[in-house]
Amino acid sequence: MINVVWFKRDLRIHDHRPLFEGSRLGEVLPIYIVEPSLWQEHDLSLRHYQFVQESLVELSQQLSEVGGKLFVAIAEMEDVLESIYETLGAFRLHAHEEYGTSVTFSRDKRVRQWMKSRDLSFLEYQGFGVVRGSKTKSSFQKNWESFMAEEFVPSPRQMMIPENIPEILSNSVEKLAKFHIQGDPIRFGQQGGESKAIETLESFLENRHKNYNSNLSKPLQSTASCSRLSPYLAWGNISIRYVVTKTREAMVNNKDSKKQLEAFLSGLKLHCQLVQKIENDPEMMTKAISGDYEHMRQKWDEEAFQRWYEGNTGIPLVDAAMRCLHKTGWINYRSRAMVVSFACNTLLLDWRRPAIALAQLFLDYEPGIHYNQIQMQVGTTGSQSIKIYNPVKMGKDEDPEGAFVRRYVTELANIPEKYIHEPWLYPGFYSLNYATPIVDIQKANKIARDLLHSIKQEIETKKRIENQNEPSHHQHEHATNEPKSNDRDFEQLSFDL
Ligand SMILES: Cc1cc2nc3c(=O)[nH]c(=O)nc-3n(C[C@H](O)[C@H](O)[C@H](O)COP(=O)(O)OP(=O)(O)OC[C@H]3O[C@@H](n4cnc5c(N)ncnc54)[C@H](O)[C@@H]3O)c2cc1C
Repeated sequence: MINVVWFKRDLRIHDHRPLFEGSRLGEVLPIYIVEPSLWQEHDLSLRHYQFVQESLVELSQQLSEVGGKLFVAIAEMEDVLESIYETLGAFRLHAHEEYGTSVTFSRDKRVRQWMKSRDLSFLEYQGFGVVRGSKTKSSFQKNWESFMAEEFVPSPRQMMIPENIPEILSNSVEKLAKFHIQGDPIRFGQQGGESKAIETLESFLENRHKNYNSNLSKPLQSTASCSRLSPYLAWGNISIRYVVTKTREAMVNNKDSKKQLEAFLSGLKLHCQLVQKIENDPEMMTKAISGDYEHMRQKWDEEAFQRWYEGNTGIPLVDAAMRCLHKTGWINYRSRAMVVSFACNTLLLDWRRPAIALAQLFLDYEPGIHYNQIQMQVGTTGSQSIKIYNPVKMGKDEDPEGAFVRRYVTELANIPEKYIHEPWLYPGFYSLNYATPIVDIQKANKIARDLLHSIKQEIETKKRIENQNEPSHHQHEHATNEPKSNDRDFEQLSFDL
């Protein structure tokens, strides 16, 4: 019986269980399908598609080195399965479980149904140490540790493909270029592919991690001292187990790096925890994690949204971060938190459109991390405090000379250092041709703090009354606060849904 190996967000051959199991059982048909119903959803964009195409070129090459071939199609999955069934008869389908949004969740349900109705087996394999149905932090921890302790799955040495190939499939990855998808091409982003992922991990473990902790919050220095593995993990060019294992090995051999690599490891674990959370609640892309906070922000201001999106707010650090993101597809953790806080807390915009806009811009868009993180920043999880950043203060702390701002906001390239984060105070401001600030940041943050605090308080009071006067778990005085440096939400994470 033919073994169809369905690649999704796992574009590699090493430590790839579906590929290993499929090729162990007989003839293999490796496929990658561009599903219009997924790609034309609003969260994906051309930069993701480019990254995937780059990854597929390498994957196709790697498969051909062991006698295999990668087959691709632009079609819905059910049509592909139908065509395989007509040409090859009964087959097994092997894939990694996908932990995504409600769109991929229901697509997987349809595929399962399709296979079941024909009495065909669909073998789905665990990824990220995530377990279907795991609801508590302790069961997650246990599963995660045992998943990470497993040996890597070897890549197949030899592979046989079937003689007859269904008409819907092609072995030309280049053909995928004709598919149209929203967004602009990215010129300065990371390039997709398994070998790039491994190179990136190696250079991080050998050298780049040395200032990981001290540079984590600095927008410019973090570009080199953070691992930059995120797009490779998001599109599966490297397995998280491989990264965890190699990091643990590096820690044994290099005691001086323990602190840096421990912090890095906690990021990897948080990655998996947040993926587990979306697995348990795939609706979080569009709905507040805590339903009580669904309509916390009711205002919409299209002009303010556009100015934020284009990096034209007149607040240098916000604009530099947004322009950097458009150009490169990456900004560090704190800049991500700050731009979300600016849009949704300072400007009080509902979080959903900014979340989709950022998903399209982050080359490493990973739904589980993305929507959890956004909702943590804006306070709709019900368990996190709302963090309101002051980008002027943050700029002075993390980019004191303004090197990051100058690089991306070229209007400010030559402004004296004293004014870099408050150019409106510069006597020659009007000759700079830079936007006047969209808000007075201190005043806007105070208004936001008072408003969000009172809404949160109202919701909590209502909940308390509904819960028959049971005391609330969350302290009101923590409703809105200024984030601490290097605070990546590790500690505050409430896992039980
Ligand atoms: C609003 C917002 C949205 C985000 N959206 C995404 C996203 O779509 N995809 C994504 O990969 N990360 C996202 N993050 C988390 C974090 O900013 C990125 O993982 C990190 O900046 C990626 O760079 P790196 O690989 O160099 O990270 P490193 O610091 O080198 O960390 C290594 C890996 O650990 C994981 N990790 C690190 N920090 C976090 C964190 N706070 N939460 C979860 N996982 C973490 C990631 O897999 C990362 O690649 C988001 C953060 C915020 C505040």
